[in-house]
Amino acid sequence: AWKSVSDYCKDHMHEVAFNVWIKIIKPVSLEDGQAVLSVRTRFQKDIIEKNYMDLLNSAFEQTLGFQPPIVLITEEDQKEGQASPSEDQPPRQTKVLNGDRSTLEYTFDNFIVGASNKFAYAASQAVATNPAGAYNPLFIYGGSGLGKTHLLYAICNEIYKNFNDINIVYIKGDDFTNELVEAIYNKTTNSFHNKYRQADVLLVDDIQFIAGKLQTQEEFFHTFDSLFQAGKQIVLVSDRPPKEIATLEERLRTRFEWGLLADVQPPDLETRVAIIKRKAEALDIAIPDELCMFIANRLKTNIRQLEGAVKKMKAYQQLAGEAPSILSAQNAIRDVLNDNQPIPVTIDRILTEVSRTCMVTPEEIKSNKRSAQISNARQIAIYVVREITQMSQSAIGEKFGGRDHSTINYAIQQVEKNMQKDPSYRATIDDIIKNIREK
Ligand code: ADP
Ligand code: MG
Repeated sequence: AWKSVSDYCKDHMHEVAFNVWIKIIKPVSLEDGQAVLSVRTRFQKDIIEKNYMDLLNSAFEQTLGFQPPIVLITEEDQKEGQASPSEDQPPRQTKVLNGDRSTLEYTFDNFIVGASNKFAYAASQAVATNPAGAYNPLFIYGGSGLGKTHLLYAICNEIYKNFNDINIVYIKGDDFTNELVEAIYNKTTNSFHNKYRQADVLLVDDIQFIAGKLQTQEEFFHTFDSLFQAGKQIVLVSDRPPKEIATLEERLRTRFEWGLLADVQPPDLETRVAIIKRKAEALDIAIPDELCMFIANRLKTNIRQLEGAVKKMKAYQQLAGEAPSILSAQNAIRDVLNDNQPIPVTIDRILTEVSRTCMVTPEEIKSNKRSAQISNARQIAIYVVREITQMSQSAIGEKFGGRDHSTINYAIQQVEKNMQKDPSYRATIDDIIKNIREK
């Protein structure tokens, strides 16, 4: 009987979802008019109860001619029932690793939906209500300040609200690298593996930062595969689609494209106005319609700036007693645009990014060590500093431990030569520069 029940489900749902959620069910008994089914974990039980009970009921109805009550049990519970619960395994609870309180305010409710983001919004909601269902991985991409991180947190919060006993892990791409470097240094790579491979839902923000970093990509590849195969949900966010992340390994690129790609675009005028109004409401400040329009016509490509303008107007009102007016709107816009001037890139910032990519420390780059790996990293750092800061060669030399300008010149020439010879080397440098500029 179970075979026909399962076949019925297979015909009535997405194949991926079938493989992940129904195929794993083991029939235990059909006695006393009750169907007992078993799955391995409570997480699986939760998801099935939330999403597939109707389907299972109809399947039994079709097969048996009636609907037996369905009882789902888990191997986890069976085991714990037999053995006395051990001290070192506290009952699992839903928890969000790396999340903090401020992220609670990012929800689906306070996300304004317009033509530019409705697809990414719907996909995020689908994933939050049905993790590891049809869209795995979900890959969201788009420009800065367009709500990608907001959606990621909203998924987090929604899953947290709806499920018990589920491990959510949130991480930024560059923190993943940092943690890995630290784990290698402290010889704690095992607990690093475990932290990520025990996730039921893994959310990675700004995944583009792992590109070009060999060991990080290697590690992420294995994390990805082990989670994916175990039917866990993966959500990735990036500033570009996978095919435009130049130094992303091919095997990762293909995996990132396995599931659903969803982009967020700059909002249209109506959406911008709606966002200004909603943010004004949240801050309890009354901004007349024509002022909303005025702002929306001037700040077009970044939602963070719209939010910033409303906050400025609120501040003017509170601090200077200035009611919203064209003048205060103009000032708010000017301030916001100035705030968003890129912060000048520091040498330290460049050293950090280069050292992550080349897997050496910033100190080593500045030192006199001459191992091939370190010299290579040093040359790249020098080149990138020149590209980004336009400093003179002797000034760069001073920043790099008092090297003279001919040494700096030589390093730059080497890098330029390598870039001409080797497209993947060039792509690595381009990625480093891009990452530093967009930070
Ligand atoms: P990104 O990660 O794409 O750079 P964020 O998610 O950090 O952008 O969004 C920037 C700010 O704009 C956040 O405060 C976020 O709450 C807000 N925001 C972005 N999109 C929306 C939206 N559609 N509705 C409401 N607020 C939004
Ligand atoms: Mg973001």
